[in-house]
Amino acid sequence: MIISDYHIHSSFSGDSVEDLNRICKKAIELGIKEIAITDHMDLDVKVAEDDLNFYLNLDEYVPTILKLKEFYKKDLDIKLGMEFGVQKHLGEIGDELIKKYPFDFIISSVHTVDKLLVDQKEFWNDKTRDEAHDKYFFEILKSVENFNQFSVQGHLDFITRYGGLDKKGFIDYIRYQDLIDSILKKLISKGKGIEINTSGIRYNENRFYPCDNIIKRYFELGGEIITIGSDSHKASDLGKDFRRAYDFLESIGVKYISSFDQLDVSFKKIK
Ligand SMILES: [Zn+2]
Ligand SMILES: [Zn+2]
Repeated sequence: MIISDYHIHSSFSGDSVEDLNRICKKAIELGIKEIAITDHMDLDVKVAEDDLNFYLNLDEYVPTILKLKEFYKKDLDIKLGMEFGVQKHLGEIGDELIKKYPFDFIISSVHTVDKLLVDQKEFWNDKTRDEAHDKYFFEILKSVENFNQFSVQGHLDFITRYGGLDKKGFIDYIRYQDLIDSILKKLISKGKGIEINTSGIRYNENRFYPCDNIIKRYFELGGEIITIGSDSHKASDLGKDFRRAYDFLESIGVKYISSFDQLDVSFKKIK
């Protein structure tokens, strides 16, 4: 049984055309009890005019999701969420913005370093794979330090999806162990979680974001908050590979995943 899917995009995201009602109906059909709609909001990104725009119109988005929540409340618990594309200088801006709306759940995701999206070739042009990864993880650490109004850190090491495709999926965990430990300790000290993002399997990386080592390490260091998200941009990907995520968590002794209401955490037993 799928307990919840906490990372879902709809047509409010620049890179999805999925209809919100189709998402809700699919969740009900799959027997999912709880979903978080987490559309993209990425500010201060250097993109060409004809590139995708990841700005989210909150004055349209928030009332739409609240209406949806009310409409489906008998069958489905819908959380008002957002995936905020954080950068080290955007913490305060993000905090102020999020406080203005009744969000249940916020994913903090680093998609951008030096104002370049990590899937843009401009980001990779002047760097080796290691240099790109150094910058990316350092950006996460600084963002976690500077940002407060979020629930979990999104797809913590998904940068392997881009650049250096000969080593697809591979993260040099030894090289980044100290930096990743600092990120995880900071998250834990701030009462923040991480997500297991199952899209890595769909992107042929045969792993979750983040990798098993990082998930294990988060719990070893005393972390307790984890959500599982498909990062679906179409309804047919809802809940994909969640059984594998539950089995993995059980194999490392984790018995609970998290739910969020108005940014407050509670726990649900994995069955
Ligand atoms: Zn993302
Ligand atoms: Zn996403």
